[in-house]
Amino acid sequence: MKRREFLTRAAGGGAAALAASSFPKPAVAQGVREWRMVTTWPENFPGLGTGANLLAKFITEGSEGRLKVKVFGAGKIVPAFEAMDAVGNGTVEMGHGAPYYWKGKANASQFLSGIPFGFTAQEQNAWYQYGGGQQLADRIYKELGCKFFVSGNTGCQMGGWFNKEINSAADLKGLKMRIPGLGGEVVKAAGGTPVNLAGGDIAPALQSGAIDATEWVGPYNDLAFGFYKNAKYYYYPGWHEPSGVLDNFVNLKAWESLPADLKALVEAANAAANLIVLDEFVARNNDSLEVLRSKHNVQLRAFPNDALNELGRLSGEVLIDQAKKDKLSQETFDSILAFRKTAIAWSNLSERAYLAARALPFKYAG
Ligand code: CA
Repeated sequence: MKRREFLTRAAGGGAAALAASSFPKPAVAQGVREWRMVTTWPENFPGLGTGANLLAKFITEGSEGRLKVKVFGAGKIVPAFEAMDAVGNGTVEMGHGAPYYWKGKANASQFLSGIPFGFTAQEQNAWYQYGGGQQLADRIYKELGCKFFVSGNTGCQMGGWFNKEINSAADLKGLKMRIPGLGGEVVKAAGGTPVNLAGGDIAPALQSGAIDATEWVGPYNDLAFGFYKNAKYYYYPGWHEPSGVLDNFVNLKAWESLPADLKALVEAANAAANLIVLDEFVARNNDSLEVLRSKHNVQLRAFPNDALNELGRLSGEVLIDQAKKDKLSQETFDSILAFRKTAIAWSNLSERAYLAARALPFKYAG
């Protein structure tokens, strides 16, 4: 890093820099870079925090220590939702979270997460790699002073935890529910009150009655937070987040200061982490669902088709409204809509048809 750039950075940063003042600034000596990655997740949290750890490990070890990345969980340097500011203004070099957490700064960012009734995880990855998603995300994050990487996916999420049955979209009326991003806007359109809370704040809010319901991720993560202690029904499917994208954002100047080989390494490390995080969710959700059912007697409920149909209709209206807010939102939504159309055509003949075939009542080995 150039000396002048270092001085500018050391002087900037505002409140986040003050909060971080007890941490020494990273050393840059003899081509060795020490980067700090702040996350929106509790440290080492299953799948999410561990995904950030995996990314840091790939970059640090893959560069043989030329680019050392150290992970700081939510609240360690800055609170969860200040991660983007801290990276954008150069207080730290890297962040790890979810795109819709930044919708207050860039409306279009919420279209980069899984959108209601949008892509499956595989379709989402295909859009990022081959459907123009990466380029759009880079333009959106550039406005925040960052370079974007997709860095993990939760797979299809669960619909959430409720203390009453949801038989129609109207049953969401008056409900105060933790649900971020576009899903939250749909709950609002259905007459509910969406709130966004960082992961670590959800369980206490559910326990105290500050919120009536919540979604988080799926069995693996929801078991870890113990939501079953304070909610009766666990609904599926996660219509609002059929794929949950995790983002890795890098301060644009820090990114541009990297030599080509380290840039390629960061890109490859994110591509690897993106898939391995999804693998972890799929594997652990299977086991955790069993624990929730058999050990904690959680009552599983499917949203009835009538409710899903209405939520789908409302989602369409909400997405159109949200896309109108600015040019980049509209462009991103249009790109997703076009890709979704072709994705559905192929998925109907492949995954969807196969899953139906696998569910037929034939006798199978074991
Ligand atoms: Ca979620």
